[in-house]
Amino acid sequence: MTGSIDINGARLLQRLEEFAAIGATKAGGVNRQALSVEDRQARSLLAELAVARGFRVYQDPVANLFIRRDGMRDDRPPFLIGSHLDSQPTGGRFDGALGTLAAFEVLESLQDRAIVTNGPVEVVAWTNEEGSRFTPGVMGSMAFSLGHVLDAWQNIQDAKGTRLQDAIADTLAALPEAEFRALGTPIAGYLELHIEQAPTLERDGIPVGIVTGVQGTRWLEIRVTGQAAHAGTTPLVYRRDPVVAVTTTLSALYASIMPNDPEARFTVGRMSVDPGSVNAIPGSLSLTIDLRHPDIQRLDAIEALIITLFQSACDTNGCTLETRRTFDVAPAIFDETIIQESENAARRLGLPFRHMISGAFHDALYISRVAPTAMIFVPCRDGLSHNEAEYVEPEHSISGARVLFETVRGLL
Ligand SMILES: [Zn+2]
Repeated sequence: MTGSIDINGARLLQRLEEFAAIGATKAGGVNRQALSVEDRQARSLLAELAVARGFRVYQDPVANLFIRRDGMRDDRPPFLIGSHLDSQPTGGRFDGALGTLAAFEVLESLQDRAIVTNGPVEVVAWTNEEGSRFTPGVMGSMAFSLGHVLDAWQNIQDAKGTRLQDAIADTLAALPEAEFRALGTPIAGYLELHIEQAPTLERDGIPVGIVTGVQGTRWLEIRVTGQAAHAGTTPLVYRRDPVVAVTTTLSALYASIMPNDPEARFTVGRMSVDPGSVNAIPGSLSLTIDLRHPDIQRLDAIEALIITLFQSACDTNGCTLETRRTFDVAPAIFDETIIQESENAARRLGLPFRHMISGAFHDALYISRVAPTAMIFVPCRDGLSHNEAEYVEPEHSISGARVLFETVRGLL
């Protein structure tokens, strides 16, 4: 392997411009929500570019889009590279698009240089990563990896009442040149380039993040019930005040979870007091907890601590506790071989890199459940994302694509 074979950085930057024009907003971002007219335009443009290069185009039942370049052994499952083309309503031009277009640049560079890979390489644009128009997000990769969720999504609609299944059908029909394939066909692996969406790489001047996993997330709903009573007449010993139970517990949790574990994320995002009257001790208090950690054992331990402390404060204050887990996504651990090959690639290119965990969800989270998977991050300005001002330095877009290219060549 030699470092002298390279991608066409100028072509990648031009493609980023071309796609940023589809759904462009006045403030310089994009509004290209999943399965919208703009999303279809972006998919059509990618398919058109693919056909012009002699690549084959496929769609599956959830409208994931695949662009295939054959390898020496076409009976082998393809290695996938890519990301997503949909955006938030006031999204940036790099979130998803960079990973998809860099992957296409890799395919074109392989073709330009007539490099024969062992197995096929495919670019993928997963459907509805963002989840802003149709919930849930990471829909395409979830359906690809689980296979059975489409039936459960039959009643999903957007805010205007458009049914998900109609939007998928229209999107599939808008790309008649694509061949149809079943959901979840076998793959050899998946590598996704993405912007970091946090400020650490930029702050430390490191151009490449080698992502070793995605942290797990749990949501808890907690309700503490005491007894509503008169604020003026009820002495301390008669009070069963849920606010006391909750505030003492939370101050203990804030003081122990994150200060003692830099990888933990603990957030109370919603809280409501009932009945919410200025001169009444509340009868109950409900709150939500968003808990994240890359290690599932730590997630379990912290969740147990949360419940133990709430229970003890409830016992002390004559309150009762109800807890419910409303969301649970296990952490993903990425593949050693792909991580190693990405490191080798960055070294060959002379690009400093660091290992990191992704704080955000990505399609790679679900794909890692069914195939060897990893991700590469590049810095974005001020860590800003899901924002029209999102920006990636051209050299960082190109570096990310070069690492992707070198990794694919190393693996295949
Ligand atoms: Zn994204």
